[in-house]
Amino acid sequence: MSHEINYGFETLQIRGGYDPKKHNYACTVPIYQTASFNLGDTDRLERIKSKEEHGFLYTRSGNPTLDILEKRITALEGGTASLAVASDMAAVAYSILNLTEGGGEIVAVKSLYAGSYNLLTHTLPKFGIRVNWVEDHGNVESFKRAITENTKGIFIESIGNPLMNILDIENIANIAHEQFIPLVVDNTFATPYLLKPFDFGADIVVYSSTKALGGHGSTIGGLIVESGKFDWSSGKFSHFTEPDYKLDNENLVEKFPEVAFTTRARTHYLSEFGAVLSPFDAFLILEGLESLSIRVEREVRNTHIIVNYLLNHSLVEWVNYPAAPSNINPNNRELVEKYFPKGPGTMFTFGFKGNQNNINKFLNSLKIFSFLVNVGDSKSLIVQPFETTHSSLSEEDKIKAGVFENALRISIGLENVEDLISDLDQAFKKSID
Ligand SMILES: *Cc1c(COP(=O)(O)O)cnc(C)c1O
Repeated sequence: MSHEINYGFETLQIRGGYDPKKHNYACTVPIYQTASFNLGDTDRLERIKSKEEHGFLYTRSGNPTLDILEKRITALEGGTASLAVASDMAAVAYSILNLTEGGGEIVAVKSLYAGSYNLLTHTLPKFGIRVNWVEDHGNVESFKRAITENTKGIFIESIGNPLMNILDIENIANIAHEQFIPLVVDNTFATPYLLKPFDFGADIVVYSSTKALGGHGSTIGGLIVESGKFDWSSGKFSHFTEPDYKLDNENLVEKFPEVAFTTRARTHYLSEFGAVLSPFDAFLILEGLESLSIRVEREVRNTHIIVNYLLNHSLVEWVNYPAAPSNINPNNRELVEKYFPKGPGTMFTFGFKGNQNNINKFLNSLKIFSFLVNVGDSKSLIVQPFETTHSSLSEEDKIKAGVFENALRISIGLENVEDLISDLDQAFKKSID
C-alpha cells in the first residue's frame, strides 16, 4: 500500500506494509516458509551487500512475511522501523542490552511484567548491567533522582502489571531527554489502538504480540519499534557510533540515523542471540492484527460493564481499574484521561473478600473464564498473580507491583457480556457454599 501515512488506524491494521503486486497479487500476506533465499548471481549478492538492492538472505536476519508484520506495526505506531522477534521477553532483553551493552544502568519502575522484573533484578546484573528502581512512580522527580551518569535508558510499562498504574509518559520522556537517554515503553496492555507512546515522546516501544495484537492466544511473539527521533550520537552510546563490523566498519548512526536502534538490534542481537520469529507465527499475528481496533473497542466496553458489576458485589473488597471510581491504586484521573481517552485497557484486578479456600472455590467454579497466565486474548481470562505470574517476587516487591494475596487479575474478552457476568455470579455463590 502506498502513501500509508495518510490512512487511518483501521485501514493500516488490515493493509499496512503490504503491496500485493509484489507478491503475485496474493490477497492475504503469504507465508514465506523458507530458511534461506537464493542469491541469484554474484552481482546480485554484491548489490544486496552494498544495500543497493533490498534482498533477503536467511530468515534469522530477515524474511518477507516478518518484514510485512514489521512494516505494519511501524505504520500503526507512527515510527520509522520495527523488528519482529520470537517473544516480548526477547524484545525487552534485546532492547535493554542494545542500550546498556558494556555495563550500563537502566532506570525502571517496580510494577512490571514478572519476566521483565526478573530479567532486571536477577539476570542482567550478572552481565554487569544494573537497574536503579524508581522509588515513587507517581512522582516524576523520582525518575530524575534514579538517573546517574551511567544510565542508558528508562524502562516502563504504559499500564503497569498488575498494579494497573498509569505513568506520565510525556514528563518521563522529557526527563530522559534532558539526560540524553531514551524512554523505552512496554505498551502491551494498552496496544497502539488505545495509546501511541511516540505521541508523548517515547523513543522505543516493545510489544508482546502474544497478547492483544495477535488476540487469539495462539502465538508467542514480540516486537521492537523505534520512533526515529532519538539522537544516538551524543557520546553516551559509543557502541552505536564506533566502527561497526556488521557494516564494513562504518558508523551505524551516520548510515541509518532514523533506524539505528532496530538495525543494531537486528544485526547484532537477533543475528547473534537468534530469537527469530517463525514466518508462520508472523502470519498468525498479522491475521490477528486485522481486527485489533474492533476487538479492543468491544473488550473495553465489556470491561466497563464487568467492573461496574464487581464494584457493587458484596464479595469484592476493591476493584483496581484505572477508570474505576474506587481504587486501591489512586491513579491520577487527569493522567488516565490524557493518555487513555478510549479507555484504559481490558485488564484489571479485584480483591476477593474471603480466604484462599473461597478463592479456590471461586476459580474452580468458573465455567467460561479460562484459568491461565495470559492476557489480551479474545477469550476472558483469570489468574491469581500472587500464586502464579508474580510468585517469584519478594514480599515487599509484590506489594509495590500490586500483587496482593487476594488479588485476582482478569483480562476481558469478546464473549457475551451477560454470560460473563452470570458466570462470575454463579462462581461467587459457590465460593461461599
Ligand atoms: C506477556 C508480557 C510480556 C512477555 O511477553 P512474551 O511474548 O510472553 O515474551 C512482557 N510484558 C508484558 C507487559 C506482558 O504482558
